[in-house]
Amino acid sequence: MNALKIPKVELHCHLDGSLRPETVLELARLMHIELPDESIEAVRESLIAPSDCDSLDTYLKRFDLPIEVMQTEYALERVAYELMEDASKENVKYIEIRFAPQQHMKKGLDHKTIIESVVKGVKRAEQAFEIKGNVILSYLRHSDVQGIYDMIDAGQSLLGDGVVAVDLCAGEHDLFASRFKEAFSYARELGYRVTIHAGETGIAQNMTESILLLGAERIGHGVAMMNDAEAYECVKSNNVILECCPTSNLQTKAILDIKAHPIAQFYEDGILVTLNTDNRTVSETDMTHEFQIVHTAFDYDTAFDIQIYKNSVKGAFADDATKAWLLTLLES
Ligand SMILES: [Zn+2]
Repeated sequence: MNALKIPKVELHCHLDGSLRPETVLELARLMHIELPDESIEAVRESLIAPSDCDSLDTYLKRFDLPIEVMQTEYALERVAYELMEDASKENVKYIEIRFAPQQHMKKGLDHKTIIESVVKGVKRAEQAFEIKGNVILSYLRHSDVQGIYDMIDAGQSLLGDGVVAVDLCAGEHDLFASRFKEAFSYARELGYRVTIHAGETGIAQNMTESILLLGAERIGHGVAMMNDAEAYECVKSNNVILECCPTSNLQTKAILDIKAHPIAQFYEDGILVTLNTDNRTVSETDMTHEFQIVHTAFDYDTAFDIQIYKNSVKGAFADDATKAWLLTLLES
């Protein structure tokens, strides 16, 4: 089976990093945003992180323009719908789309309207294409802790109805988990599931703390645990799912060579790894490409694909009926 045709599940995909360049240009015009160069090539270039990006922070600059255009209900609904459509075209059957509502309030939208708009786009796409989706609410971890409660409360009415989890994202310069301990226990009590970006650029202790202090069932990236026995053991013994995003890790210099990516070592040791894009546009990738580069680097075949799929279904924050449906797709 080739990588495009296999059914896929994606657990780690940022909405603002996955906009179609054509849509960004159109939305910028609609919103009278002045661009230095209005050609589609220039817009595309401004969205894609260079492969020799010098750091995670440079990479994160690529989100400025997408966030600027994602400030209306129309834009939010549309980009969510289009991401679902794009994923469905490469046989992704279930996707969890994450974004940080706090970044979409520049033109006066409130948390609730923002979250509802994205969920609306996801649901409209579920009707149009053979794909299901859910939304993860991310919070920028360098922001004031108090602000996360507004996000958690605003998403509550859609919990289990389009919204499934909370996440912490953005640059990882220090230890962050203890500051968010109470907020995450509050979110979990309401029924939110938990995934957290940790160990992306070197601080493995953030993985251990995200699991033990914040109740993370999944970790975004987790590359750093390859050099940290404590984090490794914590992930393994708690059956934590790792959301690996190889292309993104190459761009942010979390790893220097695909062959050095620890996904193979983790996979062969029975760690529950999954494969994801992180950002389809910013990382100029899709799920098919992620499978292809891992296949080539480690000489993997269908057995790997099936295990990744099973791990992804296991780690998905979807309801039981959706998970059961996803597993039937392996048989066809
Ligand atoms: Zn991410």
